[in-house]
Amino acid sequence: MAEVFAEFGELGRVVTRLHPRRGDPGVWESSVGGPLVWPVGESWPTCPGHQGVQSAVRVEDVRAHRETMRDRVRSGRELTWEEREFLDSVEDGSEVLVEQSVPLLPLLQVFARDVPWLEWPAGRDVLQVLMCPMDHADEPDFDLPGVSVWDRWNAPPTVVRWRSTDSVGAVGAHPMPSMVQFDHYYPEPCVLFPERLVEYPHLWELPEDLAEAVEEWEETSGYRYRSQLSIVPGWVLGGWPKPGATDPPDEMACAECGGEMLPLLRASSMEWDAKRMSWCPIEEFDRDPADREEAKEPTGVVYGRENTLHLYRCWEDGEHPMQQMVL
Ligand SMILES: [Zn+2]
Ligand SMILES: [Zn+2]
Repeated sequence: MAEVFAEFGELGRVVTRLHPRRGDPGVWESSVGGPLVWPVGESWPTCPGHQGVQSAVRVEDVRAHRETMRDRVRSGRELTWEEREFLDSVEDGSEVLVEQSVPLLPLLQVFARDVPWLEWPAGRDVLQVLMCPMDHADEPDFDLPGVSVWDRWNAPPTVVRWRSTDSVGAVGAHPMPSMVQFDHYYPEPCVLFPERLVEYPHLWELPEDLAEAVEEWEETSGYRYRSQLSIVPGWVLGGWPKPGATDPPDEMACAECGGEMLPLLRASSMEWDAKRMSWCPIEEFDRDPADREEAKEPTGVVYGRENTLHLYRCWEDGEHPMQQMVL
């Protein structure tokens, strides 16, 4: 865009496509849904807000459900009657008695060595994001350090940790929840292939003259700015805020210092649009169609109906409380 319109020279922001792909990430690897580097002596965050009878899905059923769906896609076979019934029961959820605080799910871990261009808080080289596996009707009134919720979709709150690998010491195994509110809250373990890109704002965020010029240029060039050349889909770090929010991100201020909030993480289920394919990495074109289909929606995590999780960080100090939105 900067080659076509000089005005775009000022508008590019660094964004990182994380490119999650199903795999078996280790503790010391960047991952979605993988094990986190967690000091032996540090307690794993739990959410006490769900005791009682809940509508939920057992994690082992989520795994079985996904295995069946994968097998169906690969073999092209029809589902049996029993499989259909099981899939319906997983999608509907069932009554589960929750007796204790629920351990949070590991959502994301990123090492500075994999994304050195991110603005890391001084001395920190691991970013970790955890998520409650259950929806929340209200802002949690209990203590979940590191979380600040601002969200109109009752989405599960996230907790963010920035760590220094030098001070972690001995690393221990951490618990995992045995159930989730919906199957699409359970992240499939993925390894990451981070890629640095330049992102331009959504068409609605451009100055009016420039937006009109871009729309005219689309007519002759054949490109589509909105779907191909501006906001990047999938799991990304940094970049531009999503426009059109009722509570626009540019009115957000840090709860601790009043400073500006900027995008840290965006997570949406689809890595590219199956029709346009413009964000599909060229490496995927040579792969088996079933593998490519799996890579298009690798994490299994969907917020609401095709919504996106947005986490914003304080520009002044990345360790100030995050703000979360699902839009
Ligand atoms: Zn919770
Ligand atoms: Zn702040």
